[in-house]
Amino acid sequence: MDQTFITEIRKILPDGAVYVDEPLSRHTSFRTGGPADLFVDVPDTGLLKKIISLAFDAQITYYIIGNGSNMLVADDGYRGMILRVKTQPDLIFEDGSNIVRVSAGCSLAKLACGCAERGLAGLEFAAGIPGSVGGAVVMNAGAYGGEISDCITSAGVMDSSGGEFRLSRDELGLGYRTSVIPERNLIVTDAVFELKEGNREESSRIISELALKRREKQPLEYPSAGSTFKRPEGYFAGKLIEDSGLKGFSIGGAQVSGKHAGFVINTGHASSADIIGLIREVQKRVFENFGVKLEPEVKMLGF
Ligand code: FAD
Repeated sequence: MDQTFITEIRKILPDGAVYVDEPLSRHTSFRTGGPADLFVDVPDTGLLKKIISLAFDAQITYYIIGNGSNMLVADDGYRGMILRVKTQPDLIFEDGSNIVRVSAGCSLAKLACGCAERGLAGLEFAAGIPGSVGGAVVMNAGAYGGEISDCITSAGVMDSSGGEFRLSRDELGLGYRTSVIPERNLIVTDAVFELKEGNREESSRIISELALKRREKQPLEYPSAGSTFKRPEGYFAGKLIEDSGLKGFSIGGAQVSGKHAGFVINTGHASSADIIGLIREVQKRVFENFGVKLEPEVKMLGF
């Protein structure tokens, strides 16, 4: 990585926000992934704009992450700059309405619980999803019958030349774990949600109930990226994997969870090569057994 660029970036960012050769295993929920040439925590949209502009001038490749909870990064890492969106402020409630504006760097759990505390209903499903708001918009994250598209009204975005504009819910092209953000090479900077008039106690009850369900059904005690595969139409990925006899199957330190076959977990010392090897083996066996192509939900970087 160009030293002049690193010096320029250090000049505009607070201490402790810029890391050279930073292991991405520290920033992904799989706890795997090699070093990024440069890793930058971006505290606000103004600085994001400056960084994007400097990167454009210096022709530095970059990749955006939120909380790294849906990412598999190669063991060789990433040649370029990782920008982790940690924008503030977090939550702004519009007086006299059910509208909340939130920065992309806010955690989804904080958003969901903050809304519940205000008696605003609709985001309870999201409280247990360990991502950022930006990542949730990109992925149209969802669980237990709800998804981001149910209540988002718009998102603020930045393009690769630093231009800022808003996309409405329809323009975001939210589908099953997809949006137009990656193909248009945009960065989500904030999102606005319209919720329903609710009841604080009822929302808290739902959040606790769903948290319990997660703890019972999901291998939360191991690093993972949640459901490894998208749900194929007409099937459940976990059931196809289990019926292929793959529950507990492992390659190196990567294992098909014995608790929930839809999760590939890191049992302690998995490499990303172990995880991708296991993903491919699962895809192969499920296809041989059922003729169904499993598509990873997890985003791959550096492969
Ligand atoms: P990251 O993993 O950091 O990034 C994911 C993608 O979004 C990448 O392509 C990245 O480039 C892009 N991205 C992130 N932020 C931005 C931004 N600001 N602008 C532009 N692009 C951006 N997901 C569900 O949908 N439902 C679940 O129930 C669920 N349960 C999970 C349980 C566990 C234990 C784990 C580990 C994961 C689970 N996930 C679930 C997956 C994951 O939490 C979600 O996909 C989440 O929305 C990802 O957010 P993130 O901030 O971690 O994104």
